[in-house]
Amino acid sequence: MSLNFAATKKLFVIPEGCIYLDGNSLGPLPKSAISKTRDVVEGQWGKMLITGWNKAGWMQQPIDFGNRIGRLIGAERDHLVVGDTLSIKVYQALASALELRPERKTILSDIGNFPSDIYIAEGLIKSLGKGYEINLVPPEELTKNLNEDVAVLMLTEVDYRTGRMHDMASLNKLAHDVGALTVWDLAHSAGAIEVNLRQVGTDFAVGCTYKYLNAGPGAPAFIYIAPQHANTIRPAISGWLGHAEPFAFEPYYRSGKAIERMRIGTPPVIASAALDAALDIWDQVEMVELRAKSVELTDLFIEKIQDTCQMLVLASPKDAKLRGSQVSFHFEEGYAAIQACISLGVIGDFRAPDIMRFGFAPLYIDEKDVLAACAIISKVMNERLWDRPAYKKKDKVT
Ligand SMILES: *Cc1c(COP(=O)(O)O)cnc(C)c1O
Repeated sequence: MSLNFAATKKLFVIPEGCIYLDGNSLGPLPKSAISKTRDVVEGQWGKMLITGWNKAGWMQQPIDFGNRIGRLIGAERDHLVVGDTLSIKVYQALASALELRPERKTILSDIGNFPSDIYIAEGLIKSLGKGYEINLVPPEELTKNLNEDVAVLMLTEVDYRTGRMHDMASLNKLAHDVGALTVWDLAHSAGAIEVNLRQVGTDFAVGCTYKYLNAGPGAPAFIYIAPQHANTIRPAISGWLGHAEPFAFEPYYRSGKAIERMRIGTPPVIASAALDAALDIWDQVEMVELRAKSVELTDLFIEKIQDTCQMLVLASPKDAKLRGSQVSFHFEEGYAAIQACISLGVIGDFRAPDIMRFGFAPLYIDEKDVLAACAIISKVMNERLWDRPAYKKKDKVT
């Protein structure tokens, strides 16, 4: 059955007069999240109190949600779990992966990777104190640097600035050919593009649920471990809920089975109510259809902007096969230009030093929105509406 995008659009709260092209940073509110969150707070927490852990199934949720996300990215059943934040999941995945290649000391990544992923790696290296090094190279030089010193190839599939997409299948193969393992960050992939972790042989993957998956600010992250590693890896953060029997309260740690060991502590039940509502929508989605629509929308956007805004320089790959679900442009006064667009109802965002970034989520963005957004962006650019002091004053969050 094919997806009715006109119907899915009605499932979200999009403020009047707003064209929301920033779902790659924070997805909009699914309408049903309002009642679902209220029900979890009033009906479950309020009435069940502590019995909710069993009665409402709170304790099992991280695995159940993991399976629903897993379907979207081709994970094997019961090999993905939800919890904590993405930065913490990066730490867990990288630490476990490094231990599987103890004789090697290099983590290979690219300079387009998201800073938090790199900072986490730096911090982990310091704590381990075993002489690990992170080698950050331009994305096109990864293959050249994949050698037998590399323990882990750690990459974000879709570059948060430019939307450039790595070829996960071929990089996995090249990494495995030299005996390295892979850790993929799917922050800009899950709910945006087709991913098939099982088919391409990814070892570890992590991602968040508040971007394209629309689960709300601060929603929990997820981690995937391939079956061949799931029962052998040691979790670097060994919390009680990753223990084989949390409620045996044993004095020493014994890891839980498979992905259960990547759980750490008490799950965020209230935040998970919004995730549940978001996943009710995703349960109906086939990623192949969504991706086709996303390519149509981004192609259209690039074509119209390039026709009307010569001062904007495309930062994203023009070829849709090499691009995620966002489109970015270089413009020196990009910050002010984005502020001007926002004041006229087109919400995108700015990433230093000069990137104007627009995300496209077919669940609630259609051709009409794209054309209307292009008309507004074109007006802002051609009439220099951005050239006002008020638009140049930087806020804390860009
Ligand atoms: C958004 C994003 C993060 C953010 O991590 P949090 O712990 O959720 O704040 C990390 N890595 C990448 C690649 C991202 O795009």
